[in-house]
Amino acid sequence: MSICNNCPRHCRVDRERQKGFCGEGQLKVARASLHLWEEPFISGEKGSGTIFFSGCNLKCVYCQNYDISRGKGIVISPNQLADIFKRLEDAGAENINLVTATHFVDDIVKAFEIYKPSLPVVYNCGGYESISSLEKLEGIVDIFLPDFKYSDNSLAKRYSNAPDYFEVCTKALLKMRELCPKDIIKDNLMKKGMIIRHLVLPDAIENTKGVLDFVSQNFGKSVYLSLMGQYVPYGQAKTIKPIDRKLKPIEYKIAISYAEKLGLDNTFIQETGCASEDFIPDFDKSPISLT
Ligand code: SF4
Repeated sequence: MSICNNCPRHCRVDRERQKGFCGEGQLKVARASLHLWEEPFISGEKGSGTIFFSGCNLKCVYCQNYDISRGKGIVISPNQLADIFKRLEDAGAENINLVTATHFVDDIVKAFEIYKPSLPVVYNCGGYESISSLEKLEGIVDIFLPDFKYSDNSLAKRYSNAPDYFEVCTKALLKMRELCPKDIIKDNLMKKGMIIRHLVLPDAIENTKGVLDFVSQNFGKSVYLSLMGQYVPYGQAKTIKPIDRKLKPIEYKIAISYAEKLGLDNTFIQETGCASEDFIPDFDKSPISLT
């Protein structure tokens, strides 16, 4: 019997018999594809080899991958996951991009022991990570792509049921920087390093400012930051105020100005037209076969 302690939820359940917060037992994936809508350094020209894992240890009420975070997907083995790495590599992927993989970290390590593609590996997560799980990824992951969602724990509690998010996430980010200390970019593609993502939420500009303050104070002005302004209400958020509306252009402008004021020069800014459900992939089909 193994008791799950993979993430800061510390559910301590035997996932073969019981569900923890993430809702997942065995390794499960929902979609694999060449994804062009990540940051330009990650998508490149051919697309990031993105694998969406089922379940989530945050389950934000506004999740843009709602069905997947709530468990949609199929159970596979680490061997099959290694085959997906190969298929993405053969299809021309610029990297292997593991999306919300926290709760499957042990099976992911096994899959890379079976097959390690000659591509950078991206760990794309919600930022709610335990240090011990991140240490398991040392030597496997080349690029960390974490969210830094909240500096305001009252929002973290309300929207992601994670009242200790700020403390957990900031420790995790510092660990990620330690594991990938240098940003290496060649031919407009990131090969190693870290990009911190922050989604600006409606009526939460102070939350954004707190995030940007921490980033500039702890990672310096040259840190790669992706300031996302594409918020649209999705899932449960459609009925929760004030996040039942799109982000206003003025809110995004204030966030951009604040990042500029702090001198965060390596900040990716989004086109305002990205705030649409059209930019959410069709999760009903996986372009790359999962089995
Ligand atoms: S990975 Fe899932 S079961 Fe394990 S501690 Fe985290 S939420 Fe709980």
